[in-house]
Amino acid sequence: MAQPSDNGSPKPPSSKQIETSTAFAPADIRAMHLALEQARLAEQAGEVPVGAVILDAQGRLLSVGHNLVISHNDPTAHAEIVALRAATRSIGNYRLPGATLFVTLEPCAMCVGA
Ligand SMILES: [Zn+2]
Repeated sequence: MAQPSDNGSPKPPSSKQIETSTAFAPADIRAMHLALEQARLAEQAGEVPVGAVILDAQGRLLSVGHNLVISHNDPTAHAEIVALRAATRSIGNYRLPGATLFVTLEPCAMCVGA
């Protein structure tokens, strides 16, 4: 939060303040690191490098996934869909109440709809 200056207008944050503050919880940061790791796996496999992670409502890891479109000959095997399928299988429910999906790229229209 910017501190008011002597003339009452907010001062812009210094670069040091920007570097040390974050709006993300540690669990969110860990999830994004896992998603980036998944994206690297996709890249190593010759896929488009996208990774996804799903945490349940309590922040526990439900699943990970990365693009498998080429290796599975499946145009729907985007990272998000792969992770969603793994998560729903793991809990035996087609719904994921309270779950959070982390993905390394803005989801496409298909994945947003899933
Ligand atoms: Zn997609």
